[in-house]
Amino acid sequence: MTKIAFIGLGNMGSGMCANLVGAGHEVTAFDLNPDAIKQAESKGARPAASLGEAVSGAEIVVTMLPAGKHVLEVYFGEQGVTTHAPSTAALIDCSTISVDEAREAADKAKAAGFLMVDAPVSGGTAAADAGTLTFMVGGPDAAFEAAKPFLEIMGKNVFHAGPAGNGQVAKIANNMLLGISMVGTCEAFNLAEKLGLDAQTFFNIASTASGQCWSMTSYCPAPGPVPAAPSNRDYQPGFAVAMMLKDLKLALGAAETAGANVEFGKLAETTYANLSADGFDGLDFSGVMKRVRGEI
Ligand code: NAD
Repeated sequence: MTKIAFIGLGNMGSGMCANLVGAGHEVTAFDLNPDAIKQAESKGARPAASLGEAVSGAEIVVTMLPAGKHVLEVYFGEQGVTTHAPSTAALIDCSTISVDEAREAADKAKAAGFLMVDAPVSGGTAAADAGTLTFMVGGPDAAFEAAKPFLEIMGKNVFHAGPAGNGQVAKIANNMLLGISMVGTCEAFNLAEKLGLDAQTFFNIASTASGQCWSMTSYCPAPGPVPAAPSNRDYQPGFAVAMMLKDLKLALGAAETAGANVEFGKLAETTYANLSADGFDGLDFSGVMKRVRGEI
């Protein structure tokens, strides 16, 4: 049994925390939202009255927070993790944040004597609840080895992507590709339908031809061919426009720093930014189909 502190018990963190409890670990839970702590307590976690209380004596600290500023504050703020946790604790940040912030966090953790990994996830709340997330991990070998047994409880795939920040690199590059491929898939289905080819017949052909991609075969934005896809429930998420936009912005920011050409990434970002500005943050990201069809 390991003493784990879990910080950030929101949509994703609540299920991840419950899975660590379910594996028999002693998990102390903290969130700024008292209701989230109560919910974690009802699933077997110990409630903490403060961040400092949660991490004192911890062997492992896991965070699942909204953005980079929260991560830097929670770890390195005045009353932060590195002030109250023993420096033998391994730090695992599972939040999606910028590559630069992840590397800044890793440098600060190292300077304070802690092992730390960035371990963003692929998979939504259902995968968080089921313990089937994919983790993309950046950090030194020793930190990866310390984190791995716990990531394996919360996920089904755990990849070591290289040094600090590389987990976030894998996450944003993958999600930029996903955003681009989704827009392209919507345009292809709309074009086929407008020219008289129905969605199911086009799917049967394209899913076994060279246009095949995950956005089509697992998450088809045209209703019908993939029954579990959000397109069959009026594009209720799933993975919302706001989430895709967050990841595309992170990808474009990182691309600028790296001097990488991301023309189609920019087009995808504009597509999702327009949907967001028009009030569709809560639509599933495959709902771009509605825009392509001129329905919204
Ligand atoms: P959420 O907003 O539901 O949860 C975040 C939690 O962090 C909230 O409960 C909030 O109260 C808490 N929090 C914020 N600041 C805090 C602080 N200083 N101290 C303690 N608690 C604090 O967000 P989420 O959907 O669970 O997402 C978490 C992270 O996972 C994000 O970085 C997101 O991009 C990423 N992610 C989400 C999904 C998804 O489908 N929701 C999928 C993949 C990755």
